Amino acid sequence: MKLRILITNDDGIYSPGLLALAKIAAGIGEVRIVAPDIEQSSMGQAITSSRPVNFRRVVLSSFEAYRVNGTPSDCVALGASQWDGVDVVFSGINMGLNLGNSCWHSGTLAAARQAALLGLRGVAVSAPVMKEETGYDLLAPHVEEVLKKVLAEKNLPLVNINLPVKPHGMEWTRMSVRHYDGKVVPQTDPMGRIHYWYTVVPIEGAEPGTDRKAMESGNISITPLRLDLTDEHELVRLQGMNRH
Ligand code: MN
Repeated sequence: MKLRILITNDDGIYSPGLLALAKIAAGIGEVRIVAPDIEQSSMGQAITSSRPVNFRRVVLSSFEAYRVNGTPSDCVALGASQWDGVDVVFSGINMGLNLGNSCWHSGTLAAARQAALLGLRGVAVSAPVMKEETGYDLLAPHVEEVLKKVLAEKNLPLVNINLPVKPHGMEWTRMSVRHYDGKVVPQTDPMGRIHYWYTVVPIEGAEPGTDRKAMESGNISITPLRLDLTDEHELVRLQGMNRH
């Protein structure tokens, strides 16, 4: 039976990265697209629970595609409920890398995580912002190769992939957490009032073996992630203390 692949993103249904990913996925399995009607970048894993959401058919190349007035996670939940037997969710190709701490904010990765929460497989794919919209199509052979590599591993419910513009190689990495990349920059508006920009600028260099380091080396970064955030080491220590 053909692999059923649900495609979504956080840049919105008309993003060139989404169409590029759908075309690649069409060579791997059966594809359906369910994506937010407007950009939802940095919205994390929010779900819409205070109002109903719409599910509307759109024309997107030859794909069966739907736009949703909700978040990336809404799209995954809705898409999986309206299409029986979804095996995997591919989220992206995001226009912008999702490395290290941005994993906590990324709507792209959150959509993949929503899939993992539903018991499906989730794969997030991100690349740098490119001036040319065709840049995402040029990455296609690399994306296809790395997706096949990830799908061949059966025990990876959640994977975060980042690609440089011209990849040299591929490496398995861990998520960089030491250096937070959020910087709040104050500016003045035309009326003289102060406002703030939340920026994504790395504050320090990357640690070896991390997603960020792979990007610096020009390699594709593949990070296996898990849903369980429990601090195992501390848990064992704390539970041990209870016994005395
Ligand atoms: Mn985005």
